[in-house]
Amino acid sequence: MFEALSDKLQRSFKNLRGQGTLTDENINDALREIRVALLESDVNLDVARDIIEHIRAKALGSTVATALSPAEQIVKIVRDELMEVLGKDTARFKFASQPPTVILMAGLQGSGKTTTTGKLAAWLKKGGHRPLLVSVDVYRPAAREQLKVVASTVGVQIYEGKLSETTGTADVLRLAKEAFREARNFANDVLIVDTAGRLGIDQALMDEMAQLKKELNPSEILFVADAMTGQDAVNSAKAFNDLLQITGAVLTKMDGDSRGGAALSIRKITGQPIKFLGTGEKPDAFEPFHPDRIVSRILGMGDIATLLERAEEKLDKDKATAFAKKALSGDGFSLEDFRDQLRQIKKLGSMQSILKMLPSVGPFQGMQQAAQNVDQKQFDRVEAIINSMTKKERQNSSIINGSRRKRIALGAGVQVSEVNNLLKQHAQMSKMFKTMGTPGGAGKMQQRLM
Ligand code: GDP
Repeated sequence: MFEALSDKLQRSFKNLRGQGTLTDENINDALREIRVALLESDVNLDVARDIIEHIRAKALGSTVATALSPAEQIVKIVRDELMEVLGKDTARFKFASQPPTVILMAGLQGSGKTTTTGKLAAWLKKGGHRPLLVSVDVYRPAAREQLKVVASTVGVQIYEGKLSETTGTADVLRLAKEAFREARNFANDVLIVDTAGRLGIDQALMDEMAQLKKELNPSEILFVADAMTGQDAVNSAKAFNDLLQITGAVLTKMDGDSRGGAALSIRKITGQPIKFLGTGEKPDAFEPFHPDRIVSRILGMGDIATLLERAEEKLDKDKATAFAKKALSGDGFSLEDFRDQLRQIKKLGSMQSILKMLPSVGPFQGMQQAAQNVDQKQFDRVEAIINSMTKKERQNSSIINGSRRKRIALGAGVQVSEVNNLLKQHAQMSKMFKTMGTPGGAGKMQQRLM
């Protein structure tokens, strides 16, 4: 997400290092590079021009001496400008004063509308809501079927209704009204309406959306945009907004190699905020859009806030505490405990995605580089080796003799040397923790490390 933009911007800042003050000349050089970085990341031409002009004005206004270095000054100006473009504060999700709150999902076919409907439902459910879903895509039975699968995956209710003989807008409106009534009668406080998508903008689709809006008076009209389609996503966002006045956008497929420019352009072009990001195919690959955190990521300052939130949500604190206690006690920890911990860490995402949330500047410099080299498969191999052991072996690794090692290696499809390595590392770690756990042990450890 935003890696290319991030790399390029940081390069332009680097070139300013070693300069005494900001001058017309070095500002121009930096701006040229920032402009290229924006355009290559697929930021809309007009938007890029605006951003550059704002940065120029602010930079020229700060050529007086300050305590900040020129590079720091420019980073700060770029940061402020990106925040301005993305809308500073996290956009709030609007609920109706009188339930059910209606959310209309809009977008082109393939943008990820149905997947996002499911993700949003799961997110609302986690927040204590009782969403009801309905698909009004009467033209494509497969789309209605897909929503049914999605609803059952995330465990929320769906209103199916019956299609009439003649499919058309009248049927769409009838289904929507029935679903609304159903939500009201069965205390579903939110109704999410997945609408028909087309391959391109067409008048019939737009008319239908306008009628749905009139009928349902939605609190949110979310435009679902495929970030990978860059400028096209921005253009269709504009078309939908001109007709429907969307209340926000969801950018999907941010996990792919999208260049991220759509994120910077949509808000500026439509005047509406990005409210969520889709970062994968699974229902939980979804996050509210926090402009400050995204800007932080773009500028290489990491996103510790999101990492901590994810840890808070996904990690089992009791398990972690129990592990620490056991590891520090005289008993040490077993390979079974170790596998548990590995599985916990995996829940946070790939090692790469975790390390990428750490800043790439200051004391963390080099971490990003390390992230490129981490072999996720290595984690899977370690787990496969432990899986191939018997329960007894996992609990007491001292019984793992030569013939057992051979069997384990065969079962995991690895070399015996890898099994040996794992056992050696486990023994070392176990000993280290034990030392830390003895009175004065932490001090001893520190001495040993110094
Ligand atoms: P719709 O036609 O707009 O309803 O699109 P779908 O919800 O059917 O999604 C189209 C494809 O995009 C499916 O294969 C989804 O799994 C995939 N998809 C949706 N959102 C994301 C995302 O955030 N990341 C990735 N990698 N794939 C996604």
